[in-house]
Amino acid sequence: MSELNLILLGPPGAGKGTQAARLREDFGLAYIGTGDLLREHRQKQTELGVKAQEYMDAGDLVPDDLVIAMILDKVEEDGDDGFLLDGFPRTVGQADALTEELDKLGRRLTAALLVDAPDEVVLNRLSGRRQCSNGHLYHVEFDPPKHPDVCDQDGSRLVQRDDDKPETIRNRLAVYHDQTEPLVEYYENHDLLRRFDGTRRPTEVHDHVRATVATLRLEDEL
Ligand SMILES: [Zn+2]
Repeated sequence: MSELNLILLGPPGAGKGTQAARLREDFGLAYIGTGDLLREHRQKQTELGVKAQEYMDAGDLVPDDLVIAMILDKVEEDGDDGFLLDGFPRTVGQADALTEELDKLGRRLTAALLVDAPDEVVLNRLSGRRQCSNGHLYHVEFDPPKHPDVCDQDGSRLVQRDDDKPETIRNRLAVYHDQTEPLVEYYENHDLLRRFDGTRRPTEVHDHVRATVATLRLEDEL
């Protein structure tokens, strides 16, 4: 069977995480979330993890080559049938570096999957989320509790996480548009981009993504 080497792109709140979880199940791909990967290396105190920790302790960003080394380790370990990369690359420079390093392993990307949604949709989705201290989730518009700000299940107070505050979301969106959105054009120019409408229901998006990825695999096998 041919390999599926995929990158997930999209603004925060467009539903990338949901699609990632379903794609892993559908196609048995190694999921490589760079946040998880970093955490894992630091916890296990691997050579790469210790180096990353030094940068973080100094208040610096973990350099791209370290992150890419972690990604390639994981690809070689679990990614025989392919991988699904989430959270990297975030800049065109990182995308170039990744392509180059994959090339050395004799691998290339199959596609970059973009789950897109306009800023207003993202703001509305994320800023409406409410959570109780036991982690039960609600949405003021799409999944409201019976009584405002009170958890249906345990009666505790619902709050908005800092990550879901409108100004935080606007900042994350600004960074996305500035640094990550150029990747859309980059992968389009490399004929790797596939677009999905993240404003639709998650199951509809999933059907579309799954069909597209299945087709990509077929094309690759021909
Ligand atoms: Zn609760």
